[in-house]
Amino acid sequence: MRVLIVGAGIAGSTLAYWLQRAGHEPTLLERAPALRRGGYLIDFWGTGFDVAERMGIVPRLLHEGYQLTEARDVASDGHQLASLDPQRLVAGASGRYVSILRADLATAIYDALEEGVETIFGDTVARLIEGERSVHVEFEQGGEREFDLVVGADGLHSRVRELVFGEESRFERDLGIAVAAFDVASYRPRDELVAVMHAEVGFQAIRVALQDDLTMFMLTFRHHGSVPIDDVGAQQKVVRTSLARAGWEIPAILDQLPQARTLYLDRANQIRMPSWTSGRVALIGDAAASPSLLAGQGSALAMVEAYVLATELTATPADHRRAFEAYERRLMPMLRSKQDAAKGLGTAFAPPSRLHLMLRTTMMRFMGFPPVANLAMGRSLRDPIKLPTWPGS
Ligand SMILES: Cc1cc2nc3c(=O)[nH]c(=O)nc-3n(C[C@H](O)[C@H](O)[C@H](O)COP(=O)(O)OP(=O)(O)OC[C@H]3O[C@@H](n4cnc5c(N)ncnc54)[C@H](O)[C@@H]3O)c2cc1C
Repeated sequence: MRVLIVGAGIAGSTLAYWLQRAGHEPTLLERAPALRRGGYLIDFWGTGFDVAERMGIVPRLLHEGYQLTEARDVASDGHQLASLDPQRLVAGASGRYVSILRADLATAIYDALEEGVETIFGDTVARLIEGERSVHVEFEQGGEREFDLVVGADGLHSRVRELVFGEESRFERDLGIAVAAFDVASYRPRDELVAVMHAEVGFQAIRVALQDDLTMFMLTFRHHGSVPIDDVGAQQKVVRTSLARAGWEIPAILDQLPQARTLYLDRANQIRMPSWTSGRVALIGDAAASPSLLAGQGSALAMVEAYVLATELTATPADHRRAFEAYERRLMPMLRSKQDAAKGLGTAFAPPSRLHLMLRTTMMRFMGFPPVANLAMGRSLRDPIKLPTWPGS
C-alpha cells in the first residue's frame, strides 16, 4: 500500500519504519524544512520502550539521553523538601527508562529507516479527497498525488484531523494549564543528572542540566484561554506575567528568557476523539489522543500506536477497515485511562491552592514507597497492554 504519513515526528517515523518493514510504501510529509533539533527533554519508558527495542534503537537512546538519578523537590530558599529516584518510580528495577530530547528521539527513529522511504520536507496537505479506492491529496506547495491511505501523525494541532474530522476545539480537553520549555547556556547553579523541582500555588518549575553547559527549564502554570503562537515577544510576556510573583530561582530563570535558543509555549491540552479513523484516513500519536505532557508518556504511547496500526495493516493488508477497527479496539481504552490519570496529575504540575501544594509536597515525600506511588500515580505508571507480535515473526 502507498501510505502518506503526515508528520515526521515520533509517531510518523515509527509508522514509516514498520510499514516499510512489511513491504508497504510509506511517504513522510513534514511541514518543517528539516527534522527539528533541540527542544525539550522527555522521559521515555513503558511499552514504547519495548517498541524502540524492537527497532534496535535503544543503545543509541541510552547513549544520547540522560539517566537521571534524582528528582529533588526544593523550597523557595533551595532546601530539599523531597527526593526520589525517577528510574525506580517509573521503571522499577528494570532500567528501561531514559530522559532524552524529543528531537533526538525523533531523529533516532528517523535514522532507523532504511533507504527508500520518501520524505518530503517543507510542505503539508491542503486538501484530502477520498475516493472509492484511494485518497487524492493536494499539497500546499502545489502538486497532487494518489495514496491508498493517509495517516495524520502531525501532532497536537493536526492539520489532517482538522481536514477530515473537524475543528480542534471539538476534541480538545482544556486542562487549564500552559507549559513553557526552553534551554539556555551557562546557567548556574547546575545539578548534574538531577531534575530540580520547585512548586508554588499556580505553577511548578523543573530545571535539568544538559550536556554542553546547557540547562533546560520546564514551567507549568495555570492558564486559561489561548497562548500566542509565532510571536516570541508575546510568548515571553505570557510566561513573565504568569510567574511574576514567584520565588526560588524564578526571577533569574525569567531573566534568561531572551537568551533561550528556542521557546516552546503551548496549552497542556489533551485530544479526545470518539474515533481515530474515517474511511481511508487514520490518526496516530498526539493528533489522535494526546495525553498531554502531564502523562509523561505521550511519545512512548505515540510509538505504541504507530506499531499497533502497522501490525494490524500488515495482518489484514487487503482490508484497511478491519485493521483500523482493530487498532482502535486495542488501544482506545488504554489511551482514555492514561488521559484521565494525567488529568488528575494537573494539581501537581500547577497546584491550584495552598492545600494542593501541601498535598503535592507530602505525596512527593512518600512517593519512593510503592503503595504511595501506586495510590498517587497507579494508572499512569502501568501500561495495560501486551504488544502484539509482528506478523510472521
Ligand atoms: C514540554 C513537554 C514535555 C513533555 N514531556 C514528555 C515526557 O516526559 N514523556 C513523553 O513521553 N512525552 C512527553 N511529552 C509529549 C510528547 O512530546 C508528545 O506526546 C510526542 O511528541 C507526540 O509525538 P507525535 O509524533 O504524535 O507528535 P510530534 O512529536 O509533535 O510530531 C509531529 C510532527 O508533525 C509535524 N507537523 C505538524 N504539523 C504538520 C503539518 N500540518 N504537516 C506536516 N507535518 C506537520 C511536526 O513538525 C512534527 O515533526 C511532552 C510534551 C511537552 C510539550
